Amino acid sequence: MKQLRYVMLLKSERGAWKEEINDYTIDTATAFSHATDMIAQFNNSLRPGETRRDLLLVRTKFTSVSNEGLKHLWEKWGAVTQQGGFDTYKCKICGATGKRFGLSDSIIIDKKYKKLIYCPNKYQR
Ligand SMILES: [Zn+2]
Repeated sequence: MKQLRYVMLLKSERGAWKEEINDYTIDTATAFSHATDMIAQFNNSLRPGETRRDLLLVRTKFTSVSNEGLKHLWEKWGAVTQQGGFDTYKCKICGATGKRFGLSDSIIIDKKYKKLIYCPNKYQR
């Protein structure tokens, strides 16, 4: 996971302004790709009264990559292996659920929690 902190300069028909962003994201993201995605998402889901925003500039202030401390703390949940050959797991910290298929090492997070690539309660350990 990666922590990104940056300032972006935005423009809409109402003028230009700065916004500071501090977010946790996937390792491959850069401040620029993060900002671009965010603005594209905003522009694609405009509500009444909102106007399109253009990204003028991104200035990175801080970036760090760390894989520790943000993983879910998986605990086997269902007692028996489910039909389809998977075991169910639940994160002891945030309650997200996932499945582990066969003897695979990785737990695939359930769709319902797919936004939680990293455990959101990272500061509570
Ligand atoms: Zn978790």
